[in-house]
Amino acid sequence: MASGTNRNDIYRRDFDPKDYMDTYFNKTSGLFMDDHYLKFILTHLHNTFSSGDVKGDTLIDIGSGPTIYQIMSACEAFKEIIATDFSEKNHQEYKRWLHNEPGAFDWSHVGEMVCKLEGDRSRWTDKEKKIRAAVKQVLKCDVLESNPLDPVVLPKVDCLLSLLCLEAASKDCDTFYCALQNITTLLKVGGHLVLCGVLGCKAWMVADKQFPGLPITEDFLRSSLAKCGYDVKEVQVQPVAGKCNVNLCDYYGNFYLVAEKKKEVK
Ligand code: SAH
Repeated sequence: MASGTNRNDIYRRDFDPKDYMDTYFNKTSGLFMDDHYLKFILTHLHNTFSSGDVKGDTLIDIGSGPTIYQIMSACEAFKEIIATDFSEKNHQEYKRWLHNEPGAFDWSHVGEMVCKLEGDRSRWTDKEKKIRAAVKQVLKCDVLESNPLDPVVLPKVDCLLSLLCLEAASKDCDTFYCALQNITTLLKVGGHLVLCGVLGCKAWMVADKQFPGLPITEDFLRSSLAKCGYDVKEVQVQPVAGKCNVNLCDYYGNFYLVAEKKKEVK
């Protein structure tokens, strides 16, 4: 289901990958270091991907942006990872890290957090190699299109991972629901969706540029997932009240959820 929005133009024009990583993931000043988003997300990603319940051949990361923190645990459970994003600038930044080129973002402070969760903080260099070997493709993706990977058509995969993308891409709740339906067509029945993001966010900043959010709730997520044919296995919510810098992002919580696709709906 395609649904037009001018949000695509906003991302194409204004989203600067380096500013995004610096604002949210900088080792000392990043908001996601400060508000415990990273600790929360990385812990749950570690639990999910080390459980043995969510594993397989191929995982697609939807709306990867320029970041790789989200696949640090998944690379231990999937043979092949496909990164995707709407913006060409993000592809370039992502590939800069993938090919270990000068100027690539240094993820070591985040990588060490994940390796510590896995029991050995010093393994980060090995894990970097593992991630680089696991990411086989970086594809263009638009979650607002019925085949988000058009013109590429892939066999359905075992797992979809998506962080902070659907609420960024969707101008309203109907659009979010359509985007969820669209990405769900990429997933096998019996496969898992791991979805993470922020609750109640109306707007967020990257350097001096403001981006529109979509203030979603846990109830909305649960009902949308059920209508798309999912059985929700786990929902975690972390309130951030009083912790976060509301000048950067006005959300009230982080969510993490795992759902299993039980049937084809679309
Ligand atoms: N997943 C990353 C990036 C989140 S920022 C992280 O966890 O940090 C939101 C991302 O959504 C941006 O990279 C933006 O380019 C992407 N995006 C926005 N609209 C999109 C769309 N219609 N289809 C796919 N990706 C989109």
